[in-house]
Amino acid sequence: MISERIKNISESVTLKLNSKIVQMVEDGHQVYNLTAGQLPFRPMKEFVDLMRGELNFLKSFQYGPVQGMKTLREKVLSYIQKTRSVDFSIVEEGMDCIVSNGGKQCLYNTLATLLNPKDEVILLTPYWVSYPQMIRACDGVAVCIGASIYNGFVPSIEEIKNSITEKTKVIILNSPNNPSGIHYSQEWMKDFAKLLLEYPQIFVISDEIYFEISYFDPAPTYFYQYEPKLLERTIIVDGISKTLACTGLRIGYTIAKSSLIKAMIKFQGQTTSGANSLVQRALVNFDFSKVAYYLDPIKKHLRENSRILREALRDHRLPNCWYQTLSAFYFLIDFTATPCFDNYNTQNVEKRSEKMTDYSTQICEDLLNQHQVAIVPGTDFGIPNSARISLVMETEQFIQATQLLCKFLSQSPSQ
Ligand code: PLP
Repeated sequence: MISERIKNISESVTLKLNSKIVQMVEDGHQVYNLTAGQLPFRPMKEFVDLMRGELNFLKSFQYGPVQGMKTLREKVLSYIQKTRSVDFSIVEEGMDCIVSNGGKQCLYNTLATLLNPKDEVILLTPYWVSYPQMIRACDGVAVCIGASIYNGFVPSIEEIKNSITEKTKVIILNSPNNPSGIHYSQEWMKDFAKLLLEYPQIFVISDEIYFEISYFDPAPTYFYQYEPKLLERTIIVDGISKTLACTGLRIGYTIAKSSLIKAMIKFQGQTTSGANSLVQRALVNFDFSKVAYYLDPIKKHLRENSRILREALRDHRLPNCWYQTLSAFYFLIDFTATPCFDNYNTQNVEKRSEKMTDYSTQICEDLLNQHQVAIVPGTDFGIPNSARISLVMETEQFIQATQLLCKFLSQSPSQ
């Protein structure tokens, strides 16, 4: 009954973990939930007031244009040009924008628009969990380039070059990165731009949803800033989910050359229509320059929690699994560099069971059962034996959670 396409999409391992967390909380346990992919703060008052005002208008409740409101699209186009210091007029046919139902729909629209069956899409690990599943849903093939804590989660340009074939259609770049919390350096972006010049058939989806959330200098930059002619084959994805702490309002934008946006409008028009009218109308009157003020204390909080976590790891003599996060709100821990990992390796050898290479889920389950600390296994991010820690939690509780986490990580089989 179920199509092969849907059968081929795997369910997230985090879903199982999340239902377990809900059950534990219902049973009266205190759970330190470090799985959050969103900021636990109220959005800006100015923005909430604008939405309240728009409730008075009938149009806020009705279908809007499929592509999104013209004034909002123009505003987004100039905001992106200003914040990324680029000039879209360099693209001969012009750059345009489509507003969609969150960054997720932007990405899916783009892949559906670009991919033919068996087209290859290069993903840089660690990658966001939904990329491989969306590629599969569009009949494409994901080709993953490895990176680890040892190279600071930055894949080498050489490796990217080596995995390009005549079937390569797209490379997805996510900087700042979910789940590593780093962004690629200026040097890396320059080299990446040079590489792209050698392959004129390749498009780049630049997922910039965390662009504003960067709390250490230098701020993120992008390959197209160094080689503006690459804008011609760049698709920029951004939105309000992370920057305005509005994940539930579902507004994202895609910016690309006009012919690509036109194709996306056709697809979106037949699948979901225009995005939320009420929120778009509020955004039209919203002063985007206020975002920086709103994010200032939030970035301070993330910087502080990142420092707390690094120091806890250092204090517990876990030297090989800490690094400096720079942006987004995540930290990726490598279990193989911690004493607790021996519990799993040894167990496997002794039981002579089927050879396992990734214990992420098992380790995260044990951490949850033994210390009530929830983190997300690295399996779905393409990094085995690792997990993502969210940095958004209120600091007092975060300190307690990191102590429990470090205690667990420090435990070797002999203890
Ligand atoms: N891209 C990345 C890297 C993300 O982490 C997320 C959300 O977690 C999205 C895109 C999707 O954003 P949205 O909630 O706007 O659909």
